[in-house]
Amino acid sequence: MTLSVRVEQSNEVTAKNYVNEVFETVKKRNPNETEFHQAVEEIFQSLIPVFAKQPKYMEAGILERMVEPERQIIFRVPWVDDQGKAQINRGYRIQYSSAIGPYKGGIRFHPSVNISIIKFLGFEQILKNSLTGQPIGGGKGGSDFDPKGKSDNEIMRFCQSFMTELFRHIGPDVDVPAGDIGVGGREVGYMFGQYKRLRGAYEAGVLTGKGVGYGGSLARTEATGYGTVYFVNEMLKDKGMSFEDQTVVVSGSGNVAIYAIEKATQFGAKVVACSDSNGYIYDKNGINLDTVKRIKEVERKRISEYVKEHPESEYYEGCTGIWSIPCDIALPCATQNEINEESANILVKNGVKAIGEGANMPSTLEAIDVFLNNNILFGPAKAANAGGVAVSALEMAQNSARLSWTFEEVDAKLHQIMINIYQQSVKASEEYGYSGNLVVGANIAGFLKVADAMMFQGLV
Ligand code: NDP
Repeated sequence: MTLSVRVEQSNEVTAKNYVNEVFETVKKRNPNETEFHQAVEEIFQSLIPVFAKQPKYMEAGILERMVEPERQIIFRVPWVDDQGKAQINRGYRIQYSSAIGPYKGGIRFHPSVNISIIKFLGFEQILKNSLTGQPIGGGKGGSDFDPKGKSDNEIMRFCQSFMTELFRHIGPDVDVPAGDIGVGGREVGYMFGQYKRLRGAYEAGVLTGKGVGYGGSLARTEATGYGTVYFVNEMLKDKGMSFEDQTVVVSGSGNVAIYAIEKATQFGAKVVACSDSNGYIYDKNGINLDTVKRIKEVERKRISEYVKEHPESEYYEGCTGIWSIPCDIALPCATQNEINEESANILVKNGVKAIGEGANMPSTLEAIDVFLNNNILFGPAKAANAGGVAVSALEMAQNSARLSWTFEEVDAKLHQIMINIYQQSVKASEEYGYSGNLVVGANIAGFLKVADAMMFQGLV
């Protein structure tokens, strides 16, 4: 007994040294990529117990290989604005891992996009996609193009130019992009149209998040937000709680936020706040989602418009203030690093019981520590927001079979997938001695499947 403990401890030290060494190499090879380093650090630290228990992954150099993208594509995107002026943006596609399926991950259009952001998203996507149980590898793409304030024609010309380069690198069995921040049904439509024209073939499965009239899946629009709420619901159920009568704060008012608000409300919660990149609204009676949908999805205006129609509500400038609203459940659904240590402490002080990350990496590493140290139920992004990509994989399956499932069928599959992700994450956290820590559990469960596939496929 004593001997085995000593062996385990020494394995733990070896594993820790190994992980730290690989992390140092990553930082040296990818200097100044802070978001990427942050995502890598979180995943690497969670995997120490795996290497301690199963040194074979260390010996096979799985981590060094997994963290180095299979392919990185950076390209020029020239387009003409409505004034006839030439504009130049930069496009990215990181084809990170094809160990368990074609590269799969969204495209983000936002002025903040750079190689660090695309790589952090791509690296996380490998483990997230693995967790879904679907046969999809990891990838991510985007551009520093800012869709805000652009006309429909400008958006179309940009999307066409972006796809004119990207098309040669993707395909239904190669790499299947989808939407993300700044890329919704409209943009996917323009990109699909251009891909089809260039290929001269109707390859429906090349992009997901398409309109339902031309190969899209019912419930894909709702999937990430609904999935996040399904996941949090499992966390709550395990502790004898539910969404019923809980006060919820959701950040963002885009695709993920809107459908998280919808499902949480259906589950009996009262959602009192949401935001955009300018500020947030607080409606103590519960947000009117129809108004939010119209302002953000149809009129594409600022969330501040909401208070004009609901005078009892309040609007505040700035993004971080939303976390000072007392709530039982917080669902960050806007962007990376939107909850820092200070905001996390305020949430805890105000009695938050559960956090579900709808956005990717919305909590800083310090904020995650605050939640875990205070025993707050914490659903990490990789697990909690995997519903979007899971239904994207279902869209690919429907495209291959040339059929369409009903909304109820897809929603039921999504729900079951989210339950499975929760259970896998719990199981892995228990098996590796971190019971209840879903950050560690989700990372390990996602990692093992990819690592095993890599072991089978040899040094590639
Ligand atoms: P959208 O572009 O539809 O919406 C993003 C929302 O977040 C907008 O309301 C935007 O405001 C707001 N926002 C952006 N930056 C900030 C900020 N600093 N503070 C507050 N609000 C901000 O994107 P999605 O809803 O698709 O994506 C949101 C998050 O979810 C991202 O992290 C994305 O990677 C992640 N995600 C998305 C998936 C999907 O299926 N779409 C799948 C899995 C994860 P504004 O209107 O001012 O731009």
